[in-house]
Amino acid sequence: MHAMLVRTPGTKLEWAELPLPEPGRGEVRVRVRACGICHSDSLTVENHWPGISFPRAPGHEIAGEIDALGADVTNWNLGARVGIGWSGGYDGTCRQCLRGDFVSCVNVRIPGIAYDGGYAQYVVAQSTVLAPIPDALSFEEAAPLMCAGITTFNALRHAGAMPGDLVAILGIGGLGHLGIQFAAKMGFQAVAIARGRDKGPLARTLGAHDYIDSSSEDVTERLLRLGGARVVLATVTSSAAMAPALRGLGADGVFLIVGAAMEPLPITPAALIAGRKSIKGWPSGNAIDSAETLRFSEMTGVRPMVETMPLERANEAYERMMSGATRFRMVLTS
Ligand SMILES: [Zn+2]
Ligand SMILES: [Zn+2]
Repeated sequence: MHAMLVRTPGTKLEWAELPLPEPGRGEVRVRVRACGICHSDSLTVENHWPGISFPRAPGHEIAGEIDALGADVTNWNLGARVGIGWSGGYDGTCRQCLRGDFVSCVNVRIPGIAYDGGYAQYVVAQSTVLAPIPDALSFEEAAPLMCAGITTFNALRHAGAMPGDLVAILGIGGLGHLGIQFAAKMGFQAVAIARGRDKGPLARTLGAHDYIDSSSEDVTERLLRLGGARVVLATVTSSAAMAPALRGLGADGVFLIVGAAMEPLPITPAALIAGRKSIKGWPSGNAIDSAETLRFSEMTGVRPMVETMPLERANEAYERMMSGATRFRMVLTS
């Protein structure tokens, strides 16, 4: 099989021919048809995650078909269309796993980090991390839902907002363009926040009821004038861009972080007290959450906007994603 490998971190991915991997006990082999490129793939490409052994194929937004079953796999059939996301394996024995919180496993096995991921024609994974892909979704549509999709969907549905509540989505990129759609379809008053007046029509097409241009408007003042946000889903990776939206929270407002910003968040702790405001993060979800993300998308028409490239052009696709040249999601096909 072919794969695009990181041999030396910080250099280009290399096209490689590898032996076909065999599934072990409790594992399946998936013929990868599509793999989304996530910003977190840079953790592997740049070696920013502890303990990665190289060479390694990145990729944790995987969609394909099961083409081989390991011993003792009884819950899947050959040919099943399945997705694999960030939570690509767990030990089943740690405290978090014993509570069923597999995504928080202390030995979580992330595809593309702990083992070769979707920048390859085949992936071998534990059979209990797969999610069935509904027929209505193509592989190219399903792949980004396995990380960008599940993360925004699962964060929003657990944030405590009720139908009709004001939910602001900060950023209209790979995560944000899905977050806006999910928020609108969940029945929230969805407000999109991004830089530039030109993104307003797009935000409304995605289902936003209102749009705030952060380059020309006061985000805090606009959110407070709308009554204050019950939830702000922060998908941007800039702490400075997060701060004005954080100050726009209303009573019991939750600032929900899914964008991996690395600088400190400039906040005044005392400002959280009145109105019982809180800040929390959200990491993806379990296999059942992936399945429900895919099913909700099928039911409501939520779809990622994708640009596809064949696997062998992974370097070009990765550069387009990292430089922000692609507006939404790059997806590799094979
Ligand atoms: Zn991701
Ligand atoms: Zn565990």
